[in-house]
Amino acid sequence: MSFSTLGLSEAIVRAVTEQGYTAPTPIQSQAIPAVLNGGDLLAGAQTGTGKTAGFTLPILHRLSTDKVGSALRNKTVPRQIRALVLTPTRELAAQVEESVRVYGKYTNLNSAVIFGGVGINPQIKLLKQGVDILVATPGRLLDHVGQGTVDLKNIEILILDEADRMLDMGFIHDIRKVLAVLPPKRQNLLFSATFSDEIKALADRLLDNPASIEVARRNSTVEVIAQTIHPVDRDKKHPMLAHLIKTNNWHQVLVFTRTKHGANKLVEQLGKDGIGAMAIHGNKSQSARTKALAEFKDGSLQVLVATDIAARGIDIDQLPHVVNYDLPNVPEDYVHRIGRTGRAGATGEAVSLVCVDEHQMLKDIEKLIKQTLPRHVIPGFEPDPTARAQPIQLRSGAPGHANRGGGRPGGNRSAGSAGNGAKPRAPGAAPSSAPKRSGAGARSHSPASRPNRDR
Ligand code: AMP
Repeated sequence: MSFSTLGLSEAIVRAVTEQGYTAPTPIQSQAIPAVLNGGDLLAGAQTGTGKTAGFTLPILHRLSTDKVGSALRNKTVPRQIRALVLTPTRELAAQVEESVRVYGKYTNLNSAVIFGGVGINPQIKLLKQGVDILVATPGRLLDHVGQGTVDLKNIEILILDEADRMLDMGFIHDIRKVLAVLPPKRQNLLFSATFSDEIKALADRLLDNPASIEVARRNSTVEVIAQTIHPVDRDKKHPMLAHLIKTNNWHQVLVFTRTKHGANKLVEQLGKDGIGAMAIHGNKSQSARTKALAEFKDGSLQVLVATDIAARGIDIDQLPHVVNYDLPNVPEDYVHRIGRTGRAGATGEAVSLVCVDEHQMLKDIEKLIKQTLPRHVIPGFEPDPTARAQPIQLRSGAPGHANRGGGRPGGNRSAGSAGNGAKPRAPGAAPSSAPKRSGAGARSHSPASRPNRDR
């Protein structure tokens, strides 16, 4: 199968070929014809499957080859936003828009990205100049809607990317507000890595007779990644990490911590060991996040420390090392984290530093991935066999939350079947409900999932 046999225009095939892609990935070969057909789509796919091109290529095709597209080419009509992509995080928004640019470079379409954490005025200017495809995080988009600086009445295609994560981050209410200002007749594409009841309810309400596709979950490909557990005392994690990085001469190490505070502290400690590290999380300015990511990608920064939410969607080809400095609260996040290494046939390595407090989390992860992970005690870091588990602090500065007995202290993911049932968000659960709710109650987040508001 080739990109041209999928029905994409020569301009798009050329751009894709320049990227070195020889054949569509499974999600692409299914999603592209479905989107070109004009119908709604429900797609189950995670980062790393090629999902971004899966929706970007056909929307570029549709918008550049129809009547308005031809009129644009002849410059007889002004640019209007015809496709809107909503993403949960700033990083993902920036990456998706970059993909739109790369794949659309031989079309006459243009794009813009808007997210919070940076000045709004340059965005207003950009929007005024005319945009065909807009990529946005929900909060900042609503700011523009409120100020009347974005015009969404010509939207023909709406894409919700990583919809599950948007709901996890408490964006359901913002999404509903955006939906309320879009024209009712449009094509809707919903991409999600997982299908919780909330996602199903959103899909029910949003999608009209959708084509439904799902590609292999990452869970099934984790075998290509070498995974190791290093048992360690909780206060020895930092020296162990420094030891691993130094003795193995690791470069480009992506390290996950549970909290923003933990990320900052670790960066400081590694700095004292002479290991260059930077953190990305919601409290960092956008420019600091962009800088850290750029330096990490080009290899000049040795260690990037991230929280799950900030790292979502980060796409780094051939990332050699992922370290779980803390295990994630939600087992599915383990799969997302380690899936960042070992991509595209490259061999990757994922190590987890696990202390006595995290044994239940480790059990939950092993249950999910259906593997028992090898334990490797590092000489000099043998854990104290008499150590007792302590409650895990989920949020910087928050009182401890017990995390034993398989419960999900964050309670923010309904993706797994073992959810604790205590869903923190009130809205969004009822199927087919109209977007009428407003005001209080819409933003009750669990401590672990409090989003950066992206404004
Ligand atoms: P995504 O799942 O959209 O985050 O894409 C993951 C990675 O796969 C990105 O680095 C893309 O550049 C790459 N990619 C997307 N489509 C293809 C393809 N057909 N062949 C090879 N690589 C691809």
